[in-house]
Amino acid sequence: MIIILLGPPGAGKGTQAENLQRNHGLVNLSTGDMLRAAVASGSEIGRKAKAVMERGDLVPDEVAVAIVAERLAAGPGTAKGLILDGFPRTVGQAEALDRVLAEKHRKLDAVIEMQVVDEALVARISGRFSCAKCGAAYHDTFNRPKVEGKCDVCGGGEFTRRADDSAETVKARLTVYHRETAPLLPYYRARGLLRTVDGMAEIGQVAKEIDAVLASLGRS
Ligand code: ADP
Ligand code: AMP
Repeated sequence: MIIILLGPPGAGKGTQAENLQRNHGLVNLSTGDMLRAAVASGSEIGRKAKAVMERGDLVPDEVAVAIVAERLAAGPGTAKGLILDGFPRTVGQAEALDRVLAEKHRKLDAVIEMQVVDEALVARISGRFSCAKCGAAYHDTFNRPKVEGKCDVCGGGEFTRRADDSAETVKARLTVYHRETAPLLPYYRARGLLRTVDGMAEIGQVAKEIDAVLASLGRS
């Protein structure tokens, strides 16, 4: 099973991907996480991606496609099921993904659109932080750790905020989303793959809606 989580920055894709990974054993493949790891490691891709990411732009299609294709080629771990979070982000990437999957005789099962209005996204992104050890996502207001200062998932006590989560960069990222990524909605609707959930609901409710989509695909 291969599922794409599609939605603007801050829609809750990473949060729901984490749930799906925990509860359904699907492997979460986040191009944003992979690019941040490349930046942290100082690799050539990372050095090129750093400035692009900090200004809220997209890295070139061939870079994003290459890291996903490489991960798909590497993985017996990806055979059971895969969630793509943050990829594809342009029609060019979607077409490349179609080609990569066709070569591997695999198919896309569904594209889940998480609908959230722009006004809510700025508040979500500016309050976002995550566990420095396991990456679990939190929010200052909407999703605090159960025990203050301690990660619910791994017990870690250090948290980080993303360099691109500033108010100015968020605006740039939203503009890029509407211009480059929103055209994927009609692209996948035309293929009968698009399913929409209300991303404005609270986290547990969104998870239930996504579970219902998976159940309708024969997976629960
Ligand atoms: P994305 O991966 O789409 O950029 P995240 O999953 O990182 O988004 O969520 C952005 C922020 O909003 C995080 O701080 C997260 O805890 C919070 N969040 C996620 N889903 C919801 C929700 N349904 N309601 C309120 N806050 C949410
Ligand atoms: P994300 O973690 O999904 O919010 O992504 C963070 C940043 O990484 C984005 O703002 C882009 O600069 C870059 N990025 C992540 N995924 C892609 C992609 N599929 N194509 C191009 N750039 C990407």
